[in-house]
Amino acid sequence: MQIIETGLTFGPLQPREKTTLIVIHHSASPDVPARMIHNWHRKRGWSGIGYHFVIRKDGSIERGRPQQAVGAHAGKNYNGHSIGICLCGNFMKEKPDARQIASLKQLIIWMNQRYQSQNPAGLEIKLHREVAKISCAGELFPVQEIESFYAQANQEGGQPVEEWKNKLLQEARQAGLITEDHNPDDPAPQMVRPGRSNAFAAAFCHPEPATCHPERSEGSLKQLQSCIVVSRNK
Ligand SMILES: [Zn+2]
Repeated sequence: MQIIETGLTFGPLQPREKTTLIVIHHSASPDVPARMIHNWHRKRGWSGIGYHFVIRKDGSIERGRPQQAVGAHAGKNYNGHSIGICLCGNFMKEKPDARQIASLKQLIIWMNQRYQSQNPAGLEIKLHREVAKISCAGELFPVQEIESFYAQANQEGGQPVEEWKNKLLQEARQAGLITEDHNPDDPAPQMVRPGRSNAFAAAFCHPEPATCHPERSEGSLKQLQSCIVVSRNK
């Protein structure tokens, strides 16, 4: 699963203290890039796009609001502890593309792994209409399919992301080496702040020539941590 970085810039954002819920939306529009939704939401006076992820018709997943920030998609009672995922299309009139649903499933699995330590029984998943008086995500959204997929995924348990990887990513974020959370098992070159050395890029992005790539082995952890210390002291 790859998340396409969009490089959107935001007004003031708040960090999200906890994450217990995924809220699913449709865009009620044609297939549009996250950047366009970003512009729509900015015009409403918001800090930027309210969703954390946008899934295009072809199944590609675009980054919206930073994953650790409070979103603007489900109302004030839910934004503070939820991730917002928006699928492009109007599912009052059409069904989502099968590629969108496939990507949604992957994203759900990854979010569930990512926040598993806070939610041993799995994240809750709701459609927007379950938390607000609205038709989103449309009558043609395949609720049953997602529900049974998710029930089965939780039953099987899945492979949680090893905690040391998440911890390392968190440290790297705090040290300013990377700007976004990502699945430690995925490459994420765009996460690295511009101006950082290749060693840092290698450490976080590509298996080659990553002598201290955190995603490869726990044994490399020490070396990467020393990179982080060096960066902090600069
Ligand atoms: Zn919605």
